[in-house]
Amino acid sequence: MMPSTKVLSLLRRSLKSPRTYHAQWMITRKCNYRCRGCSVWTDQDSVEISTDEVKKGLDILSELGVLEIVFSGGNPLLRNDIGEILDYASKRFITTVYDNGSMAAKKVDALRNVDFVAISLDSLEEQKNDYLKGVPGAWKRAMNSIDTLKEEGIHVGVSPTISQVNLHEIVDLTKYFINRQIPIWYCFYWYDYPFEDGMFSIGKENDEYKIRDKDALVSVIDELLRLREESEYVYITKKTLDALRHLVLTGERTWKCKALDSFLIVDHRGRVAGCHSREPVASIFDLPDVWKSAEFDKLRKQYSQCTKCAYLCYIFYSLHSGLSGILDLLRDQWKNARALFREEQKAKMSGF
Ligand code: SF4
Ligand code: SF4
Repeated sequence: MMPSTKVLSLLRRSLKSPRTYHAQWMITRKCNYRCRGCSVWTDQDSVEISTDEVKKGLDILSELGVLEIVFSGGNPLLRNDIGEILDYASKRFITTVYDNGSMAAKKVDALRNVDFVAISLDSLEEQKNDYLKGVPGAWKRAMNSIDTLKEEGIHVGVSPTISQVNLHEIVDLTKYFINRQIPIWYCFYWYDYPFEDGMFSIGKENDEYKIRDKDALVSVIDELLRLREESEYVYITKKTLDALRHLVLTGERTWKCKALDSFLIVDHRGRVAGCHSREPVASIFDLPDVWKSAEFDKLRKQYSQCTKCAYLCYIFYSLHSGLSGILDLLRDQWKNARALFREEQKAKMSGF
């Protein structure tokens, strides 16, 4: 269970206004995989801000009212100081860290205090997964990481990216992990719109990944909506699935983008942007001075009209914004929290 000091601090921040709720910190640009739908590995950068600078940045995010932080990259677990960073972050935020499955089993001690470790795994078929990840052995390492973390009592979840390549097995993959009592949530394949001066690129355009079979996608969404009603292990919210379904069927967005409003992105150099495709607009250390500025309000208005991406995390952050969005989220996730609590009790009784 979360320590009560952390819960109190989260509650105090949730009442702060104006505030941002989610931060995603792409804390390294280094990656050891070669995924076919990603451009991070083609454009790596060895420059990173130091451990102390990251901690200072986390203090600033906490003061701004951020409640939830996601560490991604590159592969964040490739940083030697990741244990220290995660310990620091976990005391202040609901903390999630992503791994492509290659590092988590080797970094168990660094992961003990985080709220969620997300292992990305795109298929139950070993060959297909390794093809998508671009490296042999990826599937075995991911499965080993999932098993190891579960045995260690760490909150591990699985996060496949839904694309045309695995669309027809997403439901089976979901049922497989539900049966193993392992939470599952999703990314949705998208590629970057080429804004000039974007902070960096992630999604690479790849025809193989683009979803052509829209009816099949709607059926998958409907099945996930059904599975989430009967299972405690499907973590994507109803609001997010409903919004995606409506977008697929009609091309209309039921949300306004909340970039630089309810969410912000920080990169490995400590630069801040509304989303990774938009230009960096501040250093994290200058954020307190500019967060309430007229210039930022102008950017928020501009981003709220933007329709250039459908990255699922940004849709989720936009839908679950403000106090009502958080209350929706809490209601939605309540049964998942109960399942987690039961898991913790079981782990404690078995000695973890
Ligand atoms: S998707 Fe993640 S694991 Fe794959 S190359 Fe990109 S950053 Fe690395
Ligand atoms: S819709 Fe929002 S998150 Fe997506 S590119 Fe535009 S500003 Fe960025």
